Amino acid sequence: MNDVLARLRELQEGDLPTHGGSTLAYVYDSGLAEADEIGRAALAQYGATNGLDPTVFPSLRTLENDLVGWAARLLNGSSAVGTVTSGGTESVLLAVQAARDAGRAASPTSSPRPVSSPTMVIPATAHAAFHKAAHYFGVRAIVVDVDPVTFTPDPAAMAAAIDDSTVLVVASAPSYAHGVVDPVREIAAVAADRGVRCHVDACIGGWILPYLRLDGIAVPDFDFAVPGVTSISVDLHKYAYTPKGASILLHRDASLRKAQFFASADWPGYTMLNSTMQSTKSGAPIAAAWAVVQHIGDSGYRQLARAAHTATLELARRAAEIDGLSVVAAPATTLVALRSDARTDIFTIADEMAAVGWFVQPQLSYRGQPPSLHLTVSAATATRLDELVDALTTATQAAQKSGPVQIAPELAAAASAIDPSTLDDAAFDGLLSIAGLGDAAGGSLPERMGPVNALLDVAPPPLREALLIAFLDRLMRPA
Ligand SMILES: *Cc1c(COP(=O)(O)O)cnc(C)c1O
Repeated sequence: MNDVLARLRELQEGDLPTHGGSTLAYVYDSGLAEADEIGRAALAQYGATNGLDPTVFPSLRTLENDLVGWAARLLNGSSAVGTVTSGGTESVLLAVQAARDAGRAASPTSSPRPVSSPTMVIPATAHAAFHKAAHYFGVRAIVVDVDPVTFTPDPAAMAAAIDDSTVLVVASAPSYAHGVVDPVREIAAVAADRGVRCHVDACIGGWILPYLRLDGIAVPDFDFAVPGVTSISVDLHKYAYTPKGASILLHRDASLRKAQFFASADWPGYTMLNSTMQSTKSGAPIAAAWAVVQHIGDSGYRQLARAAHTATLELARRAAEIDGLSVVAAPATTLVALRSDARTDIFTIADEMAAVGWFVQPQLSYRGQPPSLHLTVSAATATRLDELVDALTTATQAAQKSGPVQIAPELAAAASAIDPSTLDDAAFDGLLSIAGLGDAAGGSLPERMGPVNALLDVAPPPLREALLIAFLDRLMRPA
């Protein structure tokens, strides 16, 4: 047994560290060893339980209702109900699916009817999970551009995009890419005015903003206190610092949730009754989330939120002073996006940071905005701020020294002309090897991702997507 576990540990040596605050995306570290230990113990204790049927594991029902109640209290949902899901994406998917299936009322007072070709109005900064929902559920996304300085949408433009096919309007609190909170009050008002649901994606901010507010920090209105907000997603496995696999989807009241549930009695087995996309569903993430939330508690979260937020503001202030760097938008919570000037290759900065043990996340150029780096600051990072700023300074200088990654103009021109639907496997193999990803099947990735990102950056989004899917297809093959 020890051999197997030792082998697992050995395999993990190649992974990014999940703790220690140096991984500034994907993972969230409270820095509280005891909270982690409790989470791990609860995962183990509940690993074999099944949330498929809330009547046979009544403890899971209690844990889930407790977590939903906690979130509803934080987000001013006095009549709110909700569901624990496997993550932010599942929460978003279900919000879209419920909106689609509930349909749409002709006026705020009439009852909803199904819409034949449903659409949803989303800001260009909405999380990609909404595009996934569009893809899965056939709800076309009507994308509204954001202001190039504030990175938030104009509520009037959102209103203008609503028509009889709209089943959902979306706002972020905050957006993942830029860390800014959309004008939720105004957006929810235009949605309500047209009888359309309004989902607030607070996956990354929903467990931070309420605690900042309790601490006296001015926080924009974003939750159920805002009339017209009908659902909110908030991830536990982000700023509630719980083990992965837990998020909450809240609805303002039970009537709005009905369309989310699924039952099938149309087969000879047990009657299937599901609240989420999963059916057999591990109780482990729910139990672990419950245990960690109980352990950290309101006062703990208040301190953690304050620590991460203070560090974020400090990071933004000091990053802006680094020659060659600027902050994309003033951080509302704990996320910072940085961009660089023409002398300074942004993707090289990411590589230089990685070389000294800091993971920052490249974001490609989009809708006329240049590429940037995304940094998610968690409480554990707060204690290492000086180190982080030093690394960023050195990485930026190194990027200036090595100069920008050059993409041959012919290659850039070719990339923008390629129609990915015309490419076959051999063509993808060729393109992947030009991009430096030709060895994916052998499991080896380039040491430096700068050249890969630079090439992807000149490709239009549909080609980026096609290349990445081809890459994943080659990466995920049994040895
Ligand atoms: C993280 C995030 C999501 C998706 O959540 P996952 O847990 O990664 O599936 C959706 N929206 C926002 C704003 C997020 O930050």
